[in-house]
Amino acid sequence: MTTTHDVINPATEELVTTVALATVEQADEAIARASAASAAWRAVSPADRGLLLRRFSDLVGEHQDELAQLEVANAGHTIGNARWEAGNVRDVLAYYAAAPERNFGRQIPVAGGIDITFREPLGVVGIIVPWNFPMPIAGWGFAPALAAGNTVVLKPAELTPLTAIRLGELALEAGIPEGVLTVIAGRGSVVGERFVTHPDVRKVCFTGSTAVGQRIMRGAADQVKRVTLELGGKSANIVFADSDLELAAARAPYGVFDNAGQDCCARSRILVERSVLDRFMEHFEAAVKGVVVADPREESAEMGPLISAGQRETVRSYVEDAAEDVEVAFRGEAPQGPGYWYPATVVLPRSTSDRVWREEVFGPVVAVMPFDDEADAIAKANDTAYGLSGSIWTRDIGRGLRVARGVEAGNLSVNSHSSVRYATPFGGFKQSGIGRELGPDALEAFTEVKNVFISTD
Ligand code: NDP
Repeated sequence: MTTTHDVINPATEELVTTVALATVEQADEAIARASAASAAWRAVSPADRGLLLRRFSDLVGEHQDELAQLEVANAGHTIGNARWEAGNVRDVLAYYAAAPERNFGRQIPVAGGIDITFREPLGVVGIIVPWNFPMPIAGWGFAPALAAGNTVVLKPAELTPLTAIRLGELALEAGIPEGVLTVIAGRGSVVGERFVTHPDVRKVCFTGSTAVGQRIMRGAADQVKRVTLELGGKSANIVFADSDLELAAARAPYGVFDNAGQDCCARSRILVERSVLDRFMEHFEAAVKGVVVADPREESAEMGPLISAGQRETVRSYVEDAAEDVEVAFRGEAPQGPGYWYPATVVLPRSTSDRVWREEVFGPVVAVMPFDDEADAIAKANDTAYGLSGSIWTRDIGRGLRVARGVEAGNLSVNSHSSVRYATPFGGFKQSGIGRELGPDALEAFTEVKNVFISTD
């Protein structure tokens, strides 16, 4: 029996549209179509596959504003961010459009013949996308997967299916054959689980919570299915006394409150060298209070609402329900509602064992703590189960590099909060995940190496 999901605008709580959710049988049909399309897609010449991805990229570019508006309504993203996100899908597709002709194998010197390796597609790849960045995370999955010659079934999050559905339509319009990229809206526990259990899905590429990632990994073990997991984070923003302190404080809100903190790369722990803590907090307070929290359709909006009432409740519980442990240092303004608003909030935890210091809040809440020296900063940054991103602010480049090497995380930036560039690898250490997206690594992650030996004797 088909069920439906009401898509709600998080900024207004109004109904946007209603989407049909697929059943297990419909997921099976989509996987069967992807399987059937597989041989023909891998037989498309590398140049033609590249050309189709290039056309897809161009179409996404032509529809950038439409896609952005859809994301504003569906996910509450600010219009500026949503335009960047649609532009990111365009750029990621353009980057991987060049990949089919550069999907190089190797020739390895051996005795008695010629040894060559090929990078073969896996077959059908299942991509499970979360609600926090529906467009980029979909693109980071399907662009390299398609470039490598795989076919894709993609499940957007139940809360945010609209842009993925539109991207699926644009792929068809670009001439990508039916069955090569199928977007199928459905529940994680139904369609997502089916990607894990179906024997014809050769790899599951998942972004979301660590708990669901663990479940997928367990399920995938039955068939030794490949997984890429991009999970949570509790990243540190480390500010040294020798940094440009005003700049570090002015930028700190963008490292954590972007997308209202619903960002796996959010620098939700700020570590400040003790000698400059008070000065940093002074500048940081001004910066936080300056963040424009407003209707995400407004060009000036810098932060929108949370995705749902449930997510707001989760965020609230980290601060309001922990009042005896967590001191609110200061916070910004937020509209009263309707909409799932929550103000940018800066807290001072009592100790490193406080929940707000240890767990991924996934909302606009940041915890600040002092450190004493470089070793203490690295130890505190690493005192977490996660390892996704982080920033280091210092004028000493040697220190910047030393600390970056010392922090156990996949994506670090010095004097910046940048985590994502389509040409460079993205992914986590420890419980932040397995595998890398983007850059050359993602292409490899969607292939198997085949070795062929040809005797010359
Ligand atoms: P989930 O991990 O539940 O959802 C992410 C995706 O996985 C969605 O498409 C979801 O589908 C799907 N899914 C859910 N259950 C299964 C399953 N059993 N098998 C396969 N796929 C499944 O995240 P939540 O939405 O519940 O968010 C909870 C928390 O997770 C957040 O507060 C945040 O801390 C973290 N999170 C981290 C993200 C990141 O970028 N690292 C992204 C999103 C969340 P459906 O929407 O239909 O349930």
